Amino acid sequence: MSDKSGGSIAKIEFHAPYHPNVKLRIFDKYFSIDGACSNRFDKYIHWLTHFHFDHIRSSVAGGADFLLKQNENIIIFAPDDRTPISDYSTVFDVHKTLYQYHSKGKRLLIPVREGEKIYINNTVVEAVSLKHSVQNNAIFIKNESADFTAMVTGDWLGSDEENREAIISRNPSILISECRYFRDENYDLTCERMHTHVNDLVALSELLPDTVIIPYHISRTFSNLDYIKDIFDKHGFVFGKKILFYEDIKSYEITEAY
Ligand SMILES: [Zn+2]
Ligand SMILES: [Zn+2]
Repeated sequence: MSDKSGGSIAKIEFHAPYHPNVKLRIFDKYFSIDGACSNRFDKYIHWLTHFHFDHIRSSVAGGADFLLKQNENIIIFAPDDRTPISDYSTVFDVHKTLYQYHSKGKRLLIPVREGEKIYINNTVVEAVSLKHSVQNNAIFIKNESADFTAMVTGDWLGSDEENREAIISRNPSILISECRYFRDENYDLTCERMHTHVNDLVALSELLPDTVIIPYHISRTFSNLDYIKDIFDKHGFVFGKKILFYEDIKSYEITEAY
């Protein structure tokens, strides 16, 4: 397999510690989760975890539509969220229209049901339902030439038993998980808002000893990154802007820190 990154088999890139966008490369296949669209639709899979604005804004606003030919479209997989928002429309429908309008019909939302598996780009992607305040599809990725798997959670209620089981049963090699709050006194608030606390991730890590855990999408209220880095270091979590993975998935390298 040829690649330009010195033998790496996977790469993970974040926009910022607070931002929900995750870019993932496995060999020569790319995934953009809750991020801007690429015009390389032959290489890229675009995925929305859920319809909260911080997760959709990059793909609604930015786009490479102008680089597309007449008959080409960018497909974005999105939750089949049929929650009614009026007598006439659902959450999915209103967003489908929004994307069509802003891209002049070039960006198409494709509904993905909870639990659905899609075979695309030599890869099986599975929509794993993780409970949040709205329907949220984590993405579980297995490329057929790779002996490792990756999962990106989106936003999820970290204290929920079924959510935990959905992750543990898949035993991902790499888990990229939301990690919103850190202080013990914020635990109840985290649950109320249906997010994930670092204590939830610590508990999960004990049940997933072989998984590389990469927290992301932390609360903007934590502007002191050193405080957060110390906590992550203590628990063996990986925190960086760009991370490369090699043959042994545990031999990763942070090539750009935050
Ligand atoms: Zn979010
Ligand atoms: Zn959310």
